[in-house]
Amino acid sequence: MSEFAQFADRLKRPIDVKLHDFQRNERLRHLIFASQLTPQLLEKLRRMADMIRQLSRTKEGNLQLKQLLAHRRAMLYFSQPSTRTFLSFMAACQILGITCNEVRDPKTSSEAKRESKMDSIRMFSSYFDVIIMRTPEPNFAECCAYLMNELESREMRSVPIINAGSGSDEHPTQALLDMYTLMRTFSTDYSRESKQSRFVELQSQTPELKPGIANKTYLFCGDMGRGRTVRSLAYTIGQYPNVRLLFVSPSHETLRLDEQTKKRLRALRADIHEFDSLDAQLEGQPILAQADAVYMTRIQREHNSTQDDSDFSKIDFSQYQLNPERVARMKIYAPILHPFPRDSVMGEIPTSVDMDSRAMYFRQARNGMWARAALLVHLFDAADELFMLHNGR
Ligand code: ASP
Repeated sequence: MSEFAQFADRLKRPIDVKLHDFQRNERLRHLIFASQLTPQLLEKLRRMADMIRQLSRTKEGNLQLKQLLAHRRAMLYFSQPSTRTFLSFMAACQILGITCNEVRDPKTSSEAKRESKMDSIRMFSSYFDVIIMRTPEPNFAECCAYLMNELESREMRSVPIINAGSGSDEHPTQALLDMYTLMRTFSTDYSRESKQSRFVELQSQTPELKPGIANKTYLFCGDMGRGRTVRSLAYTIGQYPNVRLLFVSPSHETLRLDEQTKKRLRALRADIHEFDSLDAQLEGQPILAQADAVYMTRIQREHNSTQDDSDFSKIDFSQYQLNPERVARMKIYAPILHPFPRDSVMGEIPTSVDMDSRAMYFRQARNGMWARAALLVHLFDAADELFMLHNGR
Protein backbone atom coordinates (compact mmCIF):
# COMPACT_ATOMS: atom_id res chain seq x y z
CA MET A 1 0.00 0.00 0.00
CA SER A 2 1.55 3.30 -1.12
CA GLU A 3 0.97 5.22 2.10
CA PHE A 4 3.24 2.69 3.88
CA ALA A 5 6.00 3.25 1.31
CA GLN A 6 7.76 5.82 3.48
CA PHE A 7 8.31 3.07 6.09
CA ALA A 8 9.42 0.38 3.61
CA ASP A 9 13.02 0.29 4.88
CA ARG A 10 11.94 -0.06 8.47
CA LEU A 11 9.40 -2.75 7.61
CA LYS A 12 12.09 -4.86 5.93
CA ARG A 13 14.31 -5.12 9.03
CA PRO A 14 14.52 -8.35 11.05
CA ILE A 15 12.13 -8.47 13.99
CA ASP A 16 14.85 -8.34 16.69
CA VAL A 17 16.08 -5.02 15.29
CA LYS A 18 12.57 -3.57 15.11
CA LEU A 19 11.65 -4.31 18.73
CA HIS A 20 13.93 -1.59 20.03
CA ASP A 21 11.77 1.06 18.27
CA PHE A 22 8.74 0.18 20.40
CA GLN A 23 10.48 0.41 23.81
CA ARG A 24 11.41 3.34 26.03
CA ASN A 25 13.99 1.92 28.43
CA GLU A 26 12.25 -0.79 30.46
CA ARG A 27 8.79 0.22 29.36
CA LEU A 28 6.75 -0.46 26.21
CA ARG A 29 5.93 2.61 24.16
CA HIS A 30 3.84 0.65 21.64
CA LEU A 31 2.73 -2.99 21.59
CA ILE A 32 3.06 -4.23 18.01
CA PHE A 33 4.60 -7.72 18.21
CA ALA A 34 4.15 -10.57 20.68
CA SER A 35 7.94 -10.89 20.93
CA GLN A 36 7.86 -7.68 22.99
CA LEU A 37 6.16 -9.71 25.71
CA THR A 38 9.28 -11.02 27.41
CA PRO A 39 9.01 -13.37 30.40
CA GLN A 40 10.06 -10.47 32.70
CA LEU A 41 7.43 -8.09 31.33
CA LEU A 42 4.76 -10.80 31.44
CA GLU A 43 5.53 -11.41 35.10
CA LYS A 44 5.09 -7.68 35.82
CA LEU A 45 1.83 -7.54 33.86
CA ARG A 46 0.57 -10.68 35.57
CA ARG A 47 1.08 -9.11 38.99
CA MET A 48 -0.63 -5.92 37.89
CA ALA A 49 -3.57 -7.78 36.35
CA ASP A 50 -3.98 -9.74 39.62
CA MET A 51 -4.00 -6.47 41.59
CA ILE A 52 -6.63 -4.93 39.33
CA ARG A 53 -8.72 -8.09 39.62
CA GLN A 54 -8.45 -8.05 43.41
CA LEU A 55 -9.18 -4.33 43.74
CA SER A 56 -12.24 -4.64 41.55
CA ARG A 57 -13.85 -7.07 44.00
CA THR A 58 -15.01 -4.22 46.22
CA LYS A 59 -16.95 -1.07 45.48
CA GLU A 60 -14.23 1.00 47.10
CA GLY A 61 -11.50 -0.67 45.05
CA ASN A 62 -13.52 -0.14 41.88
CA LEU A 63 -13.93 3.54 42.60
CA GLN A 64 -10.21 3.90 43.28
CA LEU A 65 -9.34 2.13 40.02
CA LYS A 66 -11.70 4.43 38.15
CA GLN A 67 -9.59 7.39 39.28
CA LEU A 68 -6.29 5.84 38.17
CA LEU A 69 -6.42 6.91 34.51
CA ALA A 70 -9.50 9.15 34.56
CA HIS A 71 -7.49 11.87 32.82
CA ARG A 72 -6.85 9.69 29.74
CA ARG A 73 -8.81 9.07 26.53
CA ALA A 74 -8.58 6.06 24.20
CA MET A 75 -9.52 5.59 20.55
CA LEU A 76 -10.69 2.11 19.63
CA TYR A 77 -10.17 1.94 15.86
CA PHE A 78 -11.49 -1.45 14.76
CA SER A 79 -12.04 -1.76 11.03
CA GLN A 80 -12.14 -5.59 11.19
CA PRO A 81 -14.81 -7.65 13.00
CA SER A 82 -14.21 -8.14 16.72
CA THR A 83 -16.28 -9.01 19.75
CA ARG A 84 -14.01 -10.00 22.63
CA THR A 85 -10.97 -7.86 21.85
CA PHE A 86 -13.09 -4.77 21.31
CA LEU A 87 -15.35 -5.29 24.32
CA SER A 88 -12.59 -6.35 26.68
CA PHE A 89 -10.49 -3.31 25.76
CA MET A 90 -13.54 -1.14 26.31
CA ALA A 91 -14.22 -2.83 29.67
CA ALA A 92 -10.51 -2.46 30.61
CA CYS A 93 -10.71 1.28 29.85
CA GLN A 94 -13.90 1.58 31.90
CA ILE A 95 -12.28 -0.17 34.88
CA LEU A 96 -9.45 2.39 34.83
CA GLY A 97 -11.67 5.41 34.19
CA ILE A 98 -10.29 5.94 30.66
CA THR A 99 -12.86 7.56 28.36
CA CYS A 100 -13.21 5.62 25.10
CA ASN A 101 -14.39 6.48 21.67
CA GLU A 102 -14.64 4.18 18.67
CA VAL A 103 -14.48 4.05 14.89
CA ARG A 104 -15.52 0.62 13.69
CA ASP A 105 -16.57 1.37 10.17
CA PRO A 106 -14.13 3.57 8.18
CA LYS A 107 -17.10 4.51 5.95
CA THR A 108 -18.31 6.67 8.83
CA SER A 109 -14.93 8.48 9.04
CA SER A 110 -13.26 10.80 6.52
CA GLU A 111 -11.65 7.75 4.89
CA ALA A 112 -14.91 7.81 2.89
CA LYS A 113 -13.71 11.20 1.55
CA ARG A 114 -10.40 9.65 0.45
CA GLU A 115 -8.52 10.73 3.56
CA SER A 116 -5.45 8.50 3.92
CA LYS A 117 -5.39 6.00 6.78
CA MET A 118 -2.25 7.68 8.11
CA ASP A 119 -4.00 11.06 8.24
CA SER A 120 -6.89 9.44 10.14
CA ILE A 121 -4.44 7.99 12.67
CA ARG A 122 -2.68 11.31 13.16
CA MET A 123 -6.07 12.96 13.70
CA PHE A 124 -6.98 10.35 16.31
CA SER A 125 -3.70 11.10 18.06
CA SER A 126 -4.74 14.75 18.31
CA TYR A 127 -7.79 13.90 20.39
CA PHE A 128 -6.82 10.69 22.22
CA ASP A 129 -3.96 9.48 24.40
CA VAL A 130 -3.70 5.92 23.02
CA ILE A 131 -4.84 4.26 19.78
CA ILE A 132 -5.96 0.65 20.03
CA MET A 133 -6.33 -0.66 16.51
CA ARG A 134 -7.45 -3.70 14.54
CA THR A 135 -7.20 -3.63 10.77
CA PRO A 136 -7.08 -6.13 7.91
CA GLU A 137 -3.66 -4.80 6.75
CA PRO A 138 -0.75 -6.74 8.31
CA ASN A 139 1.73 -3.86 8.72
CA PHE A 140 -0.57 -0.99 9.46
CA ALA A 141 -0.19 -0.85 13.26
CA GLU A 142 3.58 -1.15 12.87
CA CYS A 143 3.64 1.80 10.41
CA CYS A 144 1.47 3.85 12.79
CA ALA A 145 4.01 3.23 15.55
CA TYR A 146 6.78 4.49 13.23
CA LEU A 147 4.71 7.58 12.43
CA MET A 148 4.23 8.25 16.16
CA ASN A 149 7.98 7.78 16.73
CA GLU A 150 8.76 10.32 14.01
CA LEU A 151 6.41 12.83 15.62
CA GLU A 152 7.95 12.14 19.03
CA SER A 153 11.48 12.70 17.70
CA ARG A 154 10.35 16.13 16.45
CA GLU A 155 8.75 16.83 19.84
CA MET A 156 5.30 16.80 18.29
CA ARG A 157 2.23 15.13 19.74
CA SER A 158 2.59 11.36 19.69
CA VAL A 159 0.64 8.57 21.44
CA PRO A 160 1.15 4.82 22.02
CA ILE A 161 -0.22 2.36 19.46
CA ILE A 162 -1.63 -1.00 20.53
CA ASN A 163 -1.95 -3.67 17.86
CA ALA A 164 -5.26 -5.41 18.57
CA GLY A 165 -4.92 -7.72 15.55
CA SER A 166 -3.12 -6.90 12.30
CA GLY A 167 -4.42 -8.91 9.36
CA SER A 168 -3.20 -12.49 9.35
CA ASP A 169 0.02 -11.33 10.98
CA GLU A 170 -0.05 -10.97 14.77
CA HIS A 171 -2.38 -10.53 17.73
CA PRO A 172 -0.07 -9.65 20.65
CA THR A 173 -2.75 -8.74 23.20
CA GLN A 174 -4.39 -12.14 22.63
CA ALA A 175 -0.98 -13.68 23.42
CA LEU A 176 -0.90 -11.51 26.54
CA LEU A 177 -4.20 -12.84 27.85
CA ASP A 178 -3.37 -16.40 26.78
CA MET A 179 -0.12 -16.13 28.75
CA TYR A 180 -1.91 -14.61 31.73
CA THR A 181 -4.30 -17.57 31.70
CA LEU A 182 -1.44 -20.09 31.43
CA MET A 183 0.60 -18.32 34.13
CA ARG A 184 -2.36 -18.36 36.50
CA THR A 185 -3.10 -22.00 35.70
CA PHE A 186 0.50 -23.05 36.39
CA SER A 187 0.99 -20.95 39.48
CA THR A 188 0.97 -21.87 43.15
CA ASP A 189 0.16 -18.38 44.38
CA TYR A 190 -3.07 -17.90 42.48
CA SER A 191 -6.09 -18.42 44.68
CA ARG A 192 -8.97 -16.44 46.01
CA GLU A 193 -7.98 -15.57 49.56
CA SER A 194 -10.40 -18.16 50.91
CA LYS A 195 -9.78 -21.06 48.53
CA GLN A 196 -6.84 -23.37 47.98
CA SER A 197 -5.16 -22.98 44.61
CA ARG A 198 -6.44 -25.46 42.00
CA PHE A 199 -2.82 -25.92 40.96
CA VAL A 200 -1.76 -27.07 44.43
CA GLU A 201 -4.68 -29.49 44.51
CA LEU A 202 -3.74 -30.91 41.10
CA GLN A 203 -0.07 -31.10 42.03
CA SER A 204 -0.90 -33.42 44.90
CA GLN A 205 -2.47 -35.81 42.34
CA THR A 206 0.22 -35.42 39.65
CA PRO A 207 3.59 -34.71 41.26
CA GLU A 208 5.24 -34.30 37.83
CA LEU A 209 3.31 -31.01 37.47
CA LYS A 210 5.68 -28.11 38.10
CA PRO A 211 4.86 -24.40 38.29
CA GLY A 212 5.67 -22.00 35.45
CA ILE A 213 5.63 -21.90 31.66
CA ALA A 214 9.10 -23.39 31.03
CA ASN A 215 9.77 -27.13 30.60
CA LYS A 216 6.32 -27.91 29.25
CA THR A 217 4.62 -29.22 26.10
CA TYR A 218 2.04 -27.02 24.37
CA LEU A 219 -0.24 -28.42 21.69
CA PHE A 220 -1.85 -26.10 19.10
CA CYS A 221 -4.59 -27.42 16.81
CA GLY A 222 -6.66 -26.11 13.88
CA ASP A 223 -5.77 -23.41 11.36
CA MET A 224 -2.03 -23.09 11.95
CA GLY A 225 -1.51 -21.25 8.66
CA ARG A 226 -3.88 -18.33 9.17
CA GLY A 227 -4.21 -18.23 12.96
CA ARG A 228 -2.47 -15.05 14.06
CA THR A 229 -3.17 -15.93 17.69
CA VAL A 230 -1.22 -19.18 17.31
CA ARG A 231 1.80 -17.39 15.90
CA SER A 232 1.74 -14.69 18.58
CA LEU A 233 1.37 -17.17 21.44
CA ALA A 234 4.03 -19.52 20.05
CA TYR A 235 6.54 -16.64 19.75
CA THR A 236 5.83 -15.72 23.36
CA ILE A 237 6.04 -19.23 24.82
CA GLY A 238 9.10 -19.90 22.64
CA GLN A 239 11.08 -17.41 24.76
CA TYR A 240 10.93 -19.76 27.78
CA PRO A 241 13.51 -22.53 28.23
CA ASN A 242 12.89 -26.14 27.23
CA VAL A 243 9.44 -25.83 25.68
CA ARG A 244 8.02 -28.30 23.18
CA LEU A 245 5.47 -26.96 20.69
CA LEU A 246 3.22 -29.45 18.86
CA PHE A 247 1.22 -28.12 15.88
CA VAL A 248 -1.72 -30.14 14.60
CA SER A 249 -3.43 -29.22 11.32
CA PRO A 250 -4.40 -30.76 7.99
CA SER A 251 -1.26 -30.99 5.88
CA HIS A 252 -2.62 -28.49 3.36
CA GLU A 253 -0.35 -25.55 2.61
CA THR A 254 -3.01 -22.99 3.58
CA LEU A 255 -3.60 -24.61 6.96
CA ARG A 256 -0.22 -25.82 8.17
CA LEU A 257 2.33 -23.68 9.94
CA ASP A 258 4.36 -21.54 7.52
CA GLU A 259 8.13 -21.89 7.11
CA GLN A 260 8.87 -18.36 8.32
CA THR A 261 7.16 -19.00 11.68
CA LYS A 262 8.97 -22.32 12.08
CA LYS A 263 12.29 -20.62 11.38
CA ARG A 264 11.65 -17.98 14.02
CA LEU A 265 10.59 -20.59 16.56
CA ARG A 266 13.67 -22.70 15.89
CA ALA A 267 15.84 -19.61 16.35
CA LEU A 268 14.30 -19.34 19.82
CA ARG A 269 15.37 -22.97 20.39
CA ALA A 270 11.81 -24.24 20.78
CA ASP A 271 11.43 -27.94 20.04
CA ILE A 272 8.74 -27.99 17.34
CA HIS A 273 6.80 -30.88 15.78
CA GLU A 274 3.93 -31.05 13.27
CA PHE A 275 1.10 -33.59 13.01
CA ASP A 276 -2.00 -34.08 10.88
CA SER A 277 -4.29 -35.55 13.52
CA LEU A 278 -5.08 -35.05 17.21
CA ASP A 279 -4.69 -38.83 17.52
CA ALA A 280 -1.07 -38.77 16.34
CA GLN A 281 1.78 -40.11 18.46
CA LEU A 282 5.22 -38.76 19.29
CA GLU A 283 7.94 -41.12 20.52
CA GLY A 284 5.34 -43.86 20.95
CA GLN A 285 2.98 -41.77 23.12
CA PRO A 286 -0.28 -40.05 22.05
CA ILE A 287 0.41 -36.34 21.66
CA LEU A 288 -2.78 -35.46 23.55
CA ALA A 289 -1.53 -37.36 26.58
CA GLN A 290 1.77 -35.46 26.48
CA ALA A 291 0.36 -31.94 26.28
CA ASP A 292 0.50 -29.72 29.38
CA ALA A 293 -1.92 -27.31 27.63
CA VAL A 294 -4.05 -27.54 24.48
CA TYR A 295 -4.77 -24.46 22.34
CA MET A 296 -7.64 -25.05 19.89
CA THR A 297 -8.50 -22.74 16.98
CA ARG A 298 -11.17 -22.62 14.29
CA ILE A 299 -10.57 -23.01 10.55
CA GLN A 300 -10.73 -19.42 9.26
CA ARG A 301 -12.95 -20.12 6.25
CA GLU A 302 -13.62 -16.45 5.56
CA HIS A 303 -10.09 -16.28 4.07
CA ASN A 304 -10.57 -19.30 1.75
CA SER A 305 -9.83 -19.06 -1.95
CA THR A 306 -12.07 -21.00 -4.35
CA GLN A 307 -9.29 -23.59 -4.55
CA ASP A 308 -9.25 -23.87 -0.73
CA ASP A 309 -13.03 -24.42 -0.71
CA SER A 310 -12.67 -27.25 -3.14
CA ASP A 311 -9.59 -28.79 -1.40
CA PHE A 312 -11.10 -28.52 2.08
CA SER A 313 -14.22 -30.43 1.06
CA LYS A 314 -11.96 -33.51 0.89
CA ILE A 315 -10.42 -33.04 4.37
CA ASP A 316 -11.69 -35.03 7.36
CA PHE A 317 -11.99 -32.19 9.91
CA SER A 318 -13.13 -34.59 12.64
CA GLN A 319 -9.38 -35.21 13.16
CA TYR A 320 -9.19 -31.68 14.60
CA GLN A 321 -12.13 -31.88 16.95
CA LEU A 322 -11.44 -32.00 20.67
CA ASN A 323 -14.41 -34.18 21.58
CA PRO A 324 -14.98 -35.61 25.10
CA GLU A 325 -13.27 -38.92 24.16
CA ARG A 326 -10.11 -37.04 23.26
CA VAL A 327 -10.36 -34.79 26.33
CA ALA A 328 -10.46 -37.99 28.41
CA ARG A 329 -6.96 -38.81 27.09
CA MET A 330 -5.50 -35.50 28.23
CA LYS A 331 -3.59 -34.87 31.48
CA ILE A 332 -5.98 -34.12 34.31
CA TYR A 333 -4.53 -30.64 34.78
CA ALA A 334 -3.99 -29.59 31.13
CA PRO A 335 -6.01 -26.44 30.40
CA ILE A 336 -7.95 -26.17 27.12
CA LEU A 337 -7.72 -22.73 25.56
CA HIS A 338 -9.35 -21.20 22.48
CA PRO A 339 -9.11 -17.56 21.33
CA PHE A 340 -12.75 -17.74 20.19
CA PRO A 341 -15.01 -17.44 18.30
CA ARG A 342 -15.37 -21.20 17.95
CA ASP A 343 -17.04 -22.64 14.86
CA SER A 344 -20.48 -23.86 15.92
CA VAL A 345 -20.80 -25.94 12.72
CA MET A 346 -17.39 -27.64 12.72
CA GLY A 347 -17.36 -27.84 16.52
CA GLU A 348 -13.59 -27.92 17.08
CA ILE A 349 -14.56 -27.87 20.76
CA PRO A 350 -18.08 -29.24 21.15
CA THR A 351 -20.20 -27.65 23.88
CA SER A 352 -20.20 -31.02 25.67
CA VAL A 353 -16.64 -30.15 26.82
CA ASP A 354 -17.61 -26.79 28.35
CA MET A 355 -18.24 -28.07 31.87
CA ASP A 356 -14.95 -29.98 32.09
CA SER A 357 -12.71 -28.38 34.72
CA ARG A 358 -9.95 -28.07 32.09
CA ALA A 359 -12.13 -25.96 29.75
CA MET A 360 -10.56 -22.58 30.35
CA TYR A 361 -11.82 -20.59 27.35
CA PHE A 362 -14.52 -18.54 29.03
CA ARG A 363 -12.18 -17.66 31.90
CA GLN A 364 -9.51 -16.92 29.32
CA ALA A 365 -11.80 -14.36 27.65
CA ARG A 366 -12.51 -12.69 31.01
CA ASN A 367 -8.77 -12.67 31.72
CA GLY A 368 -8.45 -10.50 28.60
CA MET A 369 -10.10 -7.66 30.45
CA TRP A 370 -7.64 -7.79 33.41
CA ALA A 371 -4.59 -8.35 31.23
CA ARG A 372 -5.50 -5.49 28.88
CA ALA A 373 -6.15 -3.19 31.83
CA ALA A 374 -2.67 -4.08 33.16
CA LEU A 375 -1.17 -3.26 29.75
CA LEU A 376 -2.82 0.18 29.77
CA VAL A 377 -1.52 0.88 33.29
CA HIS A 378 1.96 -0.09 32.10
CA LEU A 379 1.81 2.04 28.93
CA PHE A 380 0.62 5.06 30.90
CA ASP A 381 3.33 4.50 33.51
CA ALA A 382 0.85 4.19 36.37
CA ALA A 383 2.22 0.95 37.86
CA ASP A 384 3.51 2.64 41.05
CA GLU A 385 0.12 4.22 41.72
CA LEU A 386 -1.54 0.85 41.18
CA PHE A 387 0.85 -0.79 43.69
CA MET A 388 0.05 1.95 46.22
CA LEU A 389 -3.69 1.47 45.76
CA HIS A 390 -3.34 -2.27 46.12
CA ASN A 391 -1.10 -2.12 49.19
CA GLY A 392 -3.35 0.42 50.88
CA ARG A 393 -6.35 -1.91 50.65
N1 ASP B 1 -10.44 -13.87 17.56
C1 ASP B 1 -9.20 -14.36 17.02
C2 ASP B 1 -8.58 -13.35 16.06
O1 ASP B 1 -9.03 -12.23 16.00
C3 ASP B 1 -9.30 -15.73 16.46
C4 ASP B 1 -10.26 -15.97 15.32
O2 ASP B 1 -10.83 -15.04 14.75
O3 ASP B 1 -10.42 -17.15 15.00
O4 ASP B 1 -7.61 -13.68 15.41
